[in-house]
Amino acid sequence: MYDVIIIGAGPAGLLAAITAAKNNSKVLLIEKMEKPARKLRITGKGRCNITNTKTIDEFLKKVYPDKRFLKPALKNLTNARLIEFINDIGIPTVAERGDRVFPASQKAWDVANALVNEAERSGVEIVCHTKVEQLFTENEHIKAVVCETKQGIRIFKAKAVVIATGGLSYPATGSTGDGYKLAEDAGHTITSLRPSLTAIEIDKPDNRLDKLELKNVELSVWVDGNCVNKEFGEMEFTSFGIDGAIVLRISRTIVDALIGGKKVKLMLDLKPALSVEQLSNRIEREIRQLPPTSTSTILLSKLLPKQFIVTFAERLSIQANKAINKLTGGEIKKIITGLKSYPMLACGYRPFTEAIITAGGVALNEINPKTMQSKIIENLYFAGEIIDLDADTGGYNLQIAFSTGYLAGLSAAKYSKAQS
Ligand SMILES: Cc1cc2nc3c(=O)[nH]c(=O)nc-3n(C[C@H](O)[C@H](O)[C@H](O)COP(=O)(O)OP(=O)(O)OC[C@H]3O[C@@H](n4cnc5c(N)ncnc54)[C@H](O)[C@@H]3O)c2cc1C
Repeated sequence: MYDVIIIGAGPAGLLAAITAAKNNSKVLLIEKMEKPARKLRITGKGRCNITNTKTIDEFLKKVYPDKRFLKPALKNLTNARLIEFINDIGIPTVAERGDRVFPASQKAWDVANALVNEAERSGVEIVCHTKVEQLFTENEHIKAVVCETKQGIRIFKAKAVVIATGGLSYPATGSTGDGYKLAEDAGHTITSLRPSLTAIEIDKPDNRLDKLELKNVELSVWVDGNCVNKEFGEMEFTSFGIDGAIVLRISRTIVDALIGGKKVKLMLDLKPALSVEQLSNRIEREIRQLPPTSTSTILLSKLLPKQFIVTFAERLSIQANKAINKLTGGEIKKIITGLKSYPMLACGYRPFTEAIITAGGVALNEINPKTMQSKIIENLYFAGEIIDLDADTGGYNLQIAFSTGYLAGLSAAKYSKAQS
């Protein structure tokens, strides 16, 4: 009989296991893949953006759908305390661009291995290649977990169970949504699951723009004629649409609007630092400085990356070889409008296989935020992405996993001790 069984050895499960073991619990951590934390090992393009140094209030602004739920967990294991813990287990960290925290080695594998070593050092028993299929429940208590292994079915008994099986994104890492079924079987509600922090498909993508990277641009999302979100930074065109930092950050709004059957227009401001008037002056200056017989392509080359010019001119019906001294006032206005609000129509989004995170999960009103305990089954706890919580890019999602894992492990250990 274990005090605490944790299902899933991702960042949430590992922190839950380490915390429960350090609080004198006999802990079993069950992982279905061949090794723990496969997803953690590919985070941050292999560099692992562990967390963010923002203040708690700033941090919570990046969390959806209800930042209040995360507050107790984040206060129990703040970003500052997480950094200290990661340092203590032998991983020095660095903060980039002032707030994003990475291992100094720039290797996500180092973080994963250090967590696994710390779990083992703390006395956690880890079993891999073991998939939890079912929770054996009696009188609204979980008595045991039923697992499929290479050797056949195995049953482990526990006083408390933490489900930390992650979401649906990047299923090849083991996150295939098994926990949703376990939670549902236990009586929990799963809110609508959808990919988030994902690339966006646009209507009639232009292959000629594929791989074009844009810096210092602003992308705004218009739903039913209202601007509902905008982000400034970097993006890139792909064969199907758009990707990159600002696209991921606004993807949650776009995905939800598309699922709601709304028309989603995207406006790209290629010159956000310039007002319409400043841009108009700049174009006039360029025209004055160029030989009068220069073509509109040459004028556009002063304003846009080379790869964008033909598509841009075609979309605005500007003749590429027209001499600039023949451009009408209307055509110049069209260029200004196109630079300030180049329109695209969002028509889809990339699936879970390519999304960074799953939005939706175990309903927040069925979990006690102060303990991560299920309000339905007394000895059941949740941690990590399985919960209906997600956040922007920038280390916020891993901090959610670590903080909820810490609190679930602590609470499950306390619960199991109270049963002894
Ligand atoms: C490509 C990519 C890059 C990312 N980069 C970052 C980043 O830099 N910073 C950041 O903050 N976030 C990042 N994220 C998000 C972050 O990885 C997740 O938020 C985090 O991994 C969630 O942790 P978790 O422990 O809840 O779930 P997971 O990491 O998904 O772990 C769940 C574990 O449970 C196991 N499991 C599932 N079902 C069962 C079962 N039935 N029995 C036993 N075990 C089971 C799985 O095999 C898996 O190991 C990234 C995500 C992706 C996909």
